[in-house]
Amino acid sequence: MESISTEIPLTFHSVKIIEYLLSRDKNIMKPKVYLIDVTNRDGVQTSRILLPKLSKTMLNIYLDEMGIYQSEVGFPTLKHEVNYINANLELVKLGVIKRIHLEGWCRAVPADVELTFTNCPELKHINISISTSEIMIQGKFQGKKTFKDIINSLVEAVKVAKRHGAETIGINAEDASRTELERLIEFIFAGKEAGADRFRYCDTLGTDDPITIYERTKALALATKFPIEMHCHNDLGMAEAVSVSGAQGAIESGVDSYINTTVNGYGERCGNCDLVSTILALNFSHALKNKVPLDEHIDLKKAWKIGKYASYAFNLPIPINQPGVGSNAFAHESGIHADGALKDRRNYELYAPEDVGRGEPELLETGRIITTGVYGGIKGFRHVYDKLGIHFHDDNEARKVLELVQYANLHNQKPLTDDELRFIAKYPEIVRKILTVQI
Ligand SMILES: [Zn+2]
Repeated sequence: MESISTEIPLTFHSVKIIEYLLSRDKNIMKPKVYLIDVTNRDGVQTSRILLPKLSKTMLNIYLDEMGIYQSEVGFPTLKHEVNYINANLELVKLGVIKRIHLEGWCRAVPADVELTFTNCPELKHINISISTSEIMIQGKFQGKKTFKDIINSLVEAVKVAKRHGAETIGINAEDASRTELERLIEFIFAGKEAGADRFRYCDTLGTDDPITIYERTKALALATKFPIEMHCHNDLGMAEAVSVSGAQGAIESGVDSYINTTVNGYGERCGNCDLVSTILALNFSHALKNKVPLDEHIDLKKAWKIGKYASYAFNLPIPINQPGVGSNAFAHESGIHADGALKDRRNYELYAPEDVGRGEPELLETGRIITTGVYGGIKGFRHVYDKLGIHFHDDNEARKVLELVQYANLHNQKPLTDDELRFIAKYPEIVRKILTVQI
């Protein structure tokens, strides 16, 4: 029988192809930073601020457009969140929300995970959280629980999530920064063995500093080879600094890192790690941009839109000096600065307004204006939608959408934005669900 040789002679070209494939594989394997935005969970749970469900939905859509990896949508165990979360999961099925993972947060308690999937059976991504530091275990459970009990609860909770078909499970160590590394390693291995996918290092009180957190995440990643999420608070004004340093530690040990952010830094007490500042730091900091590669899907040009929308939706002004989106971020007046910026903007600007999606003129109506809302009628409603280029098939359809617009305006307690009006007209049944709360 004739044998066929499978040997291929190594020509100059085939060597080049192999070299190319190897370098491509290396790039594919190179660890990166992904962003998980927690505005719709940590941002909204903050004292004295809140967000309507329609605004939470718009944020999920904007975060998706911005290329953010995951949005922590809220609390699936909380009754008033259920319809909103399920409606947003429907938006994923409809292809309106395209790429972003919609993830729910609950305690790492088996009963809570059960309730999560009873309420939201289509949920595919979950982060479960439990305190790991001795100070919290003593202070919260008052001697009724030990660290061993914490581990048992975590393992059982992960197993329940797995049983319900969770595709990704993050295990959150609350107060990780005040927990011994040995404990965190034990926590990670227990969760990993039960089927978890990522570890969330929570600097719950904002007590870490950039060097300490870098050393700690580096050690954790080396010991466990498990991806690490950074969840950092701003009590010492270092939320972004510690987040990127922690991510760098993980990346240098060869694992992916995920930074938790909120839009405009809204969050518990002094806030969370700000979304836009984090992207700016990873794109424009001289040293960081080479050391800590950021998920290439992220579109910084959407920064202005999302920052402005969140500020409007939360009823909280953006500080004048907010990185990227503050009104002074590209303002120059003093003699030397204005002269330098006029000659070459790079003299005094690290990035350009266009980089964050600014610079386009925005129309402000100063004359007659017709709006539609809670007490609006069909004529005004049609006028507003005509201007948006949206026309209805018949009167019946228009009246149905008008009714939803009335409810949405009541729900939001402020004029609806053009994007919100478009969304209501396009997905009335989804909006109906978002605006409905079951008691
Ligand atoms: Zn938090």
